[in-house]
Amino acid sequence: MNITQILHAALDLLYPPHCAVCEKPFGEGERAFLCCDCDAKIERIDQSHLCRCGLPLPEVLDLCPECARSGRAFEQIRSFGWYEEREDPHHVLSVLLKIFKYNGERALAPLLARYLAQAGEPLRACVEQITFVPMYPKKERQRGFNQAELLARELGRLWGIPVVRALEKIRETEPQAGLSLQARRENVRGAFGLAKFSPCASILIVDDVCTSTATLTECTRVLKEGGVHRVYGLTVARASPKNIELEDV
Ligand SMILES: [Zn+2]
Ligand SMILES: [Zn+2]
Repeated sequence: MNITQILHAALDLLYPPHCAVCEKPFGEGERAFLCCDCDAKIERIDQSHLCRCGLPLPEVLDLCPECARSGRAFEQIRSFGWYEEREDPHHVLSVLLKIFKYNGERALAPLLARYLAQAGEPLRACVEQITFVPMYPKKERQRGFNQAELLARELGRLWGIPVVRALEKIRETEPQAGLSLQARRENVRGAFGLAKFSPCASILIVDDVCTSTATLTECTRVLKEGGVHRVYGLTVARASPKNIELEDV
């Protein structure tokens, strides 16, 4: 044993490695943030029959009411699992995302990017570049990182697709959580601008969570104005429609 190994062994004794969600000490082979029990409880979205906006549909429908009524600027959104906006210590994916975003646990990015890669696999062949929802510069400096950018860069590495800064946040916005759908749309309207980049035919926007699609819709509008033809969205988690106004999903 060298000194580093001894130090690690001592640290493991003092602070046994434990699950990031339930805090149970890890058993044999459990070393990647989640214990097997929590991993099994992850609230995955059934990807078998999705609407364009990423919500699962009953077999008899091809589009949800909102996509059928309004059309969509984006081609397709996909998300890996469900998100719970209300505080719930047992909701595994939401807890993981909160630890990642608010506790600054950047080491979670590779795990979350693998989830993105799973849910986004059908989009992989469609996109030439990957980008991310930008943060307002002052906020990014306060947090120290943009969680969406970290995820996009990990995904770009996994897929071998270039990651570009295509958008800029040009004004601060309220947190979307807790706002009505209409208020979410108004909150992000005009909040994004185009960064200096060479537009390509198709781009994928990565974010941690999609709630009402208002942010992804606004980013899509700006990218299309900038000359991108097809815009896709991919998020780790998706708020279940019951969390927002059902009639406006
Ligand atoms: Zn656990
Ligand atoms: Zn839809």
